[in-house]
Amino acid sequence: MIIVPEREIAGLVTREDSFDAVEKVFASMANDAAYNFPVIRESIGHADALYGFKSGFDRAGLNLGLKSGGYWPGNADKGLTNHQSTVFLFDADTGQCRAVVGGNVLTALRTAAASAVSIKHLAPKNSKVLGMIGAGHQSAFQVRAAVEQREFEKIIGWNLHPEYLVNLETVAREVGLPFEVVELDQLGDESDVIITITSSFDPILMDSQVTGGTHIACMGTDTVGKQEVDAALVARATVFTDEIAQSISLGECQHAVANGRKLETEITQIGSVINGKHAGRSTDDEVTLFDGTGVGLQDLAVAAAVVDLAVEKGVALDVDF
Ligand code: NAD
Repeated sequence: MIIVPEREIAGLVTREDSFDAVEKVFASMANDAAYNFPVIRESIGHADALYGFKSGFDRAGLNLGLKSGGYWPGNADKGLTNHQSTVFLFDADTGQCRAVVGGNVLTALRTAAASAVSIKHLAPKNSKVLGMIGAGHQSAFQVRAAVEQREFEKIIGWNLHPEYLVNLETVAREVGLPFEVVELDQLGDESDVIITITSSFDPILMDSQVTGGTHIACMGTDTVGKQEVDAALVARATVFTDEIAQSISLGECQHAVANGRKLETEITQIGSVINGKHAGRSTDDEVTLFDGTGVGLQDLAVAAAVVDLAVEKGVALDVDF
């Protein structure tokens, strides 16, 4: 059995590796060659922790396994990351545990890869302005992956807690783009691509604020009750997602579907666009919205790439099991 410790992941897997793995597995999902099993997420009644696992099987890539982990709010005081994840991969032919892979950086990379895949396939080709809503831990990962998909000239940003906006300023400098803090009206009006990555439970971006042919990647809503954009905006947009079951139950579409403003049948798996079965964006002035709920298959796909790289570079720990 191979172990790839958390400390090795950042030096092993590139954004390009993560992008390729996620794009391929989204395509497999739309071909019915890969499917996610029901998600488990429980409050464990200890340390205020939420614990669970996401699992699945990709017959095309032969990736079988799960990501186990959750949220321990007291970890920051111990110098640890509040979100903790570990990926377990199993041999699809024998069921034996094939690998254990640190899942913290991997989660950040696969989440950034998902919005980048949506930008590649859905954003207007001449997108120039990237609008960021959210400035926490994940936001910098989203920016780095997004700017590789279009020739952006500027990043603009808004966050409920202004003290975090320095994170966006720092990553904008890193990727060599000017950055401006703006109000939501300006963000909705100017942006060609908008990424939302917050822990919000109320809509932040309203329908009336989005003008023109914008692509919106909603990445923060991954739990029942969370919401980042107006249900009317979801209703108006042409909507794509990683997985329809999650989109309508715990993703950004949960509200618009529950109040009848969007039908489940109007939501398309992004894999269908990747596979060429759906044309994606049809006009320049259309609003496209990607509901990136985060699926276990993304984790398994990137973890499998990590294992291959770790073996190739001689940093995998090989243990008898
Ligand atoms: P973080 O805690 O570092 O940052 C949270 C962000 O949300 C900050 O910008 C903060 O100012 C903002 N925020 C907090 N409470 C808010 C509120 N009530 N209203 C509006 N904004 C609020 O978290 P992170 O690691 O950057 O992750 C952001 C979100 O993305 C989390 O909710 C997380 O669950 C979600 N996430 C989704 C996926 C996925 O695959 N879809 C993967 C990772 C994280």
